[in-house]
Amino acid sequence: MNNTYYGKLIFELSKEGRCGYSLPKNELDNYKMSALPANLMRYEAPCLPEVDELTVVRHYTNMSNNNFGVDTGFYPLGSCTMKYNPKINEDMAAHRDFTCLHPLQDVDTVQGALEVYYNLQTSLAELSGLKEFTLNPFAGAHGELTGLMVMRSYHASRGDDKRTKVIVPDSAHGTNPASAAVCGLDVVVVKSRPDGTVDVDDLRPLLDDTIAGMMMTNPNTLGIFEHNIAEIAKLVHDCGGLMYYDGANLNPMLGVCRPGDLGFDIMHINLHKTFSTPHGGGGPGSGPVGVREGLEQFLPNPRVVRHEEEDGHHYTIENNDNSLGFISGFLGNFAVVMRAYTYILTLGHENVKNVGPLATLNANYVKESLKDCFELPLTGVCKHEFVFDGLKDKSTGVTTLDVAKRLLDYGFHAPTIYFPLLFHEALMIEPTENESKETLDSFIEVMRKIAKEAKEQPEMVKTAPHCTPVRRLDDTQAALKPIVTYRELVNQE
Ligand SMILES: *Cc1c(COP(=O)(O)O)cnc(C)c1O
Repeated sequence: MNNTYYGKLIFELSKEGRCGYSLPKNELDNYKMSALPANLMRYEAPCLPEVDELTVVRHYTNMSNNNFGVDTGFYPLGSCTMKYNPKINEDMAAHRDFTCLHPLQDVDTVQGALEVYYNLQTSLAELSGLKEFTLNPFAGAHGELTGLMVMRSYHASRGDDKRTKVIVPDSAHGTNPASAAVCGLDVVVVKSRPDGTVDVDDLRPLLDDTIAGMMMTNPNTLGIFEHNIAEIAKLVHDCGGLMYYDGANLNPMLGVCRPGDLGFDIMHINLHKTFSTPHGGGGPGSGPVGVREGLEQFLPNPRVVRHEEEDGHHYTIENNDNSLGFISGFLGNFAVVMRAYTYILTLGHENVKNVGPLATLNANYVKESLKDCFELPLTGVCKHEFVFDGLKDKSTGVTTLDVAKRLLDYGFHAPTIYFPLLFHEALMIEPTENESKETLDSFIEVMRKIAKEAKEQPEMVKTAPHCTPVRRLDDTQAALKPIVTYRELVNQE
């Protein structure tokens, strides 16, 4: 593309003296702004680009076109569940009757919002087979911390203070050991077997009266269902520990199987993954935590409580003395809660049951269609995602990173790469239930084409991307020395 605006920085479009907008003359001049302390006053104009309104509009519109999202193309980012966010969710979350509420308003004036919280808590409990949920945590990792704090509170309430260790499989998402550490617990790693599932024989000797519990996700981060889950839960319970379910992989379970029925006591759900809220770049999110009967009292404050009355019902916001305390201000991320609630209501009971099976079908279709070109270390049926260990033919030197970069040239977002850490060339694909067969077929076609290119023109794949606004970036320097202002960029040059 070659136009005046494309790829330019707004400062480069600046022309001295040009003005996009003029404000009325500052009438406060008369008062000499005496209320402002001198050290907060600005005496020189800030260095801002001088541009007309149309230039600003074109600049930002062109920039937005450089962005990639589920609304622009296929986004098979394994582990992240980049689901379509239906626009009705946005309409509901942006509804004026909700966006104008204040958390300190009298509860009698926010009964509708409290009903949304309460109803979502109840739906999540039903879908996961647990007793009660809190919507207060702001992310999956925040939910993990909250859930582990529930675990600690439970042991503490019984005067059982020896339990300081949490067992985490070697395939776990990095947030699991990190949350345990933040919660002050020691992490004990349990090995996986060659088929990717937890090695029960490696688990047994780890179990004693110092174990607070075990964190698992099922299906695990390799997309494999942990078929020994009943035995594992029994072993952990027999030694007095609790089972924690990392619900980031709940998607394929929806309508098929509930963590509560598998023996889990505490779990979090990533509303922004399983229940369709736009996410990426760190937010926004919501990580509700659910618990089995008997653990409700430890959930964080405050809680939404429903009271049945003769002429209807009424909601209150309450604090509980046995609670682990506050883990967030107020009641969590309302806009995300509203989107998830809308999504569940839109699907309804019957369609929620199709989510898991369709996500599983899509993943298996892509896996089976590509396994002759890409190395599939774990064969058999996967759940909503699966992992390739790079190209089957490694002789060309084309790596997983190269394949991921080349996909960008074809207009697809890359899958998750180099995670999980169990395989050197991991390429983790999660199509979600949203995609049509046509989209999956064109992705399969492109992946096969890249495998062919790797053989015939390896240099071209190794230097990809060729068609994107920027080429291969130095990820390390970008993370270590991010250039976030125009001035830094100019100074660097
Ligand atoms: C995404 C994810 C998490 C962390 O959730 P955030 O909402 O990103 O904090 C934890 N475990 C697994 C398996 C995940 O995929």
